[in-house]
Amino acid sequence: MSISIRTKILFSFAVISVLLSFLGGLSIYNRNLLFRGMLEFEQSTGELKAISDMKLALDMVVMPPNDYLITADPSEKQRFDQLAEQAEVAFSALDEIGIGKEYPEVEEARAKFGTLKSKAISIFNIKEPIGSRVGARLMEEIDAISSDIILKHLDTVYVLKREGIKARIGSASALRSRVDMALLLGSMLSVLTLLLLAFYLFRAILNPLKEFKDSAHIIGNGNLDHRISIRDGTEINLLADEFNRMAGRLGDSYADLERKIQERTMELAESNKMLKELSITDGLTGLFNHRYLYEKLEDEVKRALRYGKKLSLIMIDIDFFKHYNDVNGHPEGDKVLKEIAYRISRGVRAHDLVARYGGEEFSIILPETGKEEALALAERIRRDVQEKVFPFEEKQPEGDLTISLGLASYPEDAKEAGSLLKKADDALYRAKELGKNRVELA
Ligand code: GH3
Ligand code: MG
Ligand code: MG
Repeated sequence: MSISIRTKILFSFAVISVLLSFLGGLSIYNRNLLFRGMLEFEQSTGELKAISDMKLALDMVVMPPNDYLITADPSEKQRFDQLAEQAEVAFSALDEIGIGKEYPEVEEARAKFGTLKSKAISIFNIKEPIGSRVGARLMEEIDAISSDIILKHLDTVYVLKREGIKARIGSASALRSRVDMALLLGSMLSVLTLLLLAFYLFRAILNPLKEFKDSAHIIGNGNLDHRISIRDGTEINLLADEFNRMAGRLGDSYADLERKIQERTMELAESNKMLKELSITDGLTGLFNHRYLYEKLEDEVKRALRYGKKLSLIMIDIDFFKHYNDVNGHPEGDKVLKEIAYRISRGVRAHDLVARYGGEEFSIILPETGKEEALALAERIRRDVQEKVFPFEEKQPEGDLTISLGLASYPEDAKEAGSLLKKADDALYRAKELGKNRVELA
């Protein structure tokens, strides 16, 4: 079952509150017990003192009649009255604090005290007290009543009272010990519960936090397929879902970006290829240009040198082409250039390389080809052009549109690209001089 963090926190606070209330209640109860014990102790002390006061008053009250029998001093009567009054007050005090009602012995003692008082008054009524036998007998009876009251009644009450107090103090301290123990256990339980709750809350919050940190690290390192696996249904779960959605979107945009980069890279490669082709191609005829021809010628010369192969180079120039342009216009001249380019291309082999060398000049590199073979090929091309009937060629000086060719071969004519070109060019020049529409060898 999944419990939200809010509920967990509220639950923890509720448990802590209940525990603290329980401990607080126990403390108040314990304090009240202590107060009540103190009050009871004070009250009990007062009760025991009242009984002691009573006994003292009784001890005192018997002295004036005794002294009267010895001294015949009438003031003893007054002293007796005062002490008797004090004894009455002491009896009333016992009543007030409830001892009179609690113990019937007190009431009996008070009744006997009444008898004692009347016998004392009888003594004070004797005119010649000194040596009076009646007085002496009365005095003996008073002493007997007094000790009867003290020993039989008041001492009994005193002892009973003291035993009761002892018993109450005993049970009160036993109760207090139990409450103290409950307080101690309650405190320990509270601390334990607090520790458990703290552990529980920390686990509920810190564990998911650690997973978030680790996941962010993993995704940050490029693993965009990583997801957080928290499924506890709490608020953190919502956060984890949002985090996973974010990672998903990140992954999508990354894939999108990758795809676009790939597309752009392919487009770029395509453009580069086209650019490269453009940079080595002649726009009008589609043949390679002069720059490429020269690069290739250098490569081929090196190859021929390395492998001991032959290599031939043919230079071609259209005859009276200025005339053709002047008579028929440049656009017509361009058509002728294209047609001758086509005828040269179809006359060579797959591994031969044809280039437009300049305005109306062409070159052919013939790898692994000796002079004789190259001469045959050159002658075949010359004838092909001658046989082609170009538009308006009848207006040319010879009534025909033709080409002249110069041929040079490696290694016999030259051993490097520049001089091979020059030799072929010289041969071409000679072909022009010797009347055009012919092939000349270097
Ligand atoms: P020759 O027989 O001695 O080669 O005489 P020519 O008139 O062919 O030679 P010249 O060098 O005097 O003239 C070359 C002409 O080629 C000049 C120019 O009008 C023409 N030409 C060069 N490039 C192009 C081009 O791209 N298109 C056209 N239509 N004509 C071009
Ligand atoms: Mg020319
Ligand atoms: Mg020419």
